[in-house]
Amino acid sequence: MNVADSQRVASALERLGYRAAAQVDEADVIVLNTCVVRQSAEDKAVGHLTSLRPLKTRKPGLVINLMGCLVGVKGHERLKQRFPFVDVFSPPSDPGPLVAHLTQGDSRQLEQAETARRFAAMDGDLVLPAGERGNLVASHVPVVLGCSHACTFCIIPYQRGVERSRAVGEIAAEVHSLVNQGVKEITLLGQIVDRYGKDIPDGPDLAALLRIVHQVDGLERIRFLTSHPNWMTGELLEAVAELPKVMPHIEMPVQAGDDEVLENMKRGYSAEEYRRLVEKIRLSIPGVSIATDVIVGFPGESEGQFQRTYDLLADLKLDVAHLARYSPRPGTVAERRLEDDVPEDEKWRRFRLLEELQEGIAGEISARYLGEKVDVLFEEKVRGRWKGRTPTNKLVFVETEEDLRGQVRQVQVTWTGPWSMQASLLHRSPEILPVNLIYVQT
Ligand code: SF4
Repeated sequence: MNVADSQRVASALERLGYRAAAQVDEADVIVLNTCVVRQSAEDKAVGHLTSLRPLKTRKPGLVINLMGCLVGVKGHERLKQRFPFVDVFSPPSDPGPLVAHLTQGDSRQLEQAETARRFAAMDGDLVLPAGERGNLVASHVPVVLGCSHACTFCIIPYQRGVERSRAVGEIAAEVHSLVNQGVKEITLLGQIVDRYGKDIPDGPDLAALLRIVHQVDGLERIRFLTSHPNWMTGELLEAVAELPKVMPHIEMPVQAGDDEVLENMKRGYSAEEYRRLVEKIRLSIPGVSIATDVIVGFPGESEGQFQRTYDLLADLKLDVAHLARYSPRPGTVAERRLEDDVPEDEKWRRFRLLEELQEGIAGEISARYLGEKVDVLFEEKVRGRWKGRTPTNKLVFVETEEDLRGQVRQVQVTWTGPWSMQASLLHRSPEILPVNLIYVQT
């Protein structure tokens, strides 16, 4: 979501005539887009912001904009006192305050700013920043902003506000616009993306939205994330199975494998319900890959409860598990009502156990690809190798001098590891074989 938000800020700034600077100390405007979903992310953001202070002292004209979840949607008075050298505070997904600040007192620029603001506020005609136009292969399109679920550990509903779905016409226009600028793959985003349209009377649901976006010519692939087990419908699974551009990959956090911990997190399902849903997804979408999120060391999590999470992951053998150690987020229900009583070294121990387990599972799943032919959408060259993804979202590297950016090409997998694969390019057979006539004098 932050990548998508940053793209919108860059786009709004370019509409005002700004260009990306190569170095922080060359910039006239610095936008720090922040995430506070974990304590480590918040610490990093604060550290980075503090490190900008000497630059602002040397260069008083520099505009520093703090944006995103650290600012939140409920005002920023305390932040102003804490970081007096920050010029502008912007809530998540809103370049408006920065644009207004940069164009104060200039009526011509104000008009441009208003246009930029309208565009950047997601009216469907997103112009990618210059560096990305024609280069960006995979892009994100937010379709549901905010979240109203309120899991006890989560800060997002406080920082990003209540759930609101974007209008389907805006989304379709934005996807068209991105495809016209060279994008081949779109990921539809929402904190609970399957709740798309629930707040729009008679609006389409996510399954219907996928069918609409599927019609965009030139778009090769569609993904969506993040799903919540309570909102994964049969219609959605049917749409994924049926629509060739929608990739067989589901991101569906479980967070814990113990019912009491799930209840304390207010996730709204049991471990058994999650298990049955994974079975249903696998039956509905052949070859599907499933990724999950897990938090270890949630308040009160006993050794036995952690073991149930371990066993669930060991049984389900999901493709990916994003692991996190619980850290209390100020203002959340868990922080106010539950004691953070699992010692830090124990959280680390549990984290490493799951990490090791998942590494083995991911390695086994990848090994099944060895020698297989798969279609890969290539995105960019990284250290001399082309990087792309399979439909199941596995990372593949290919060494070739060909320019593969934005192409879906068939490859044969030659090496697999838990986190990536290597492959060789299978050359397309030419449609008309060139005929060379060679006369040999005998
Ligand atoms: S569903 Fe829960 S974890 Fe996800 S954003 Fe909403 S409150 Fe946070």
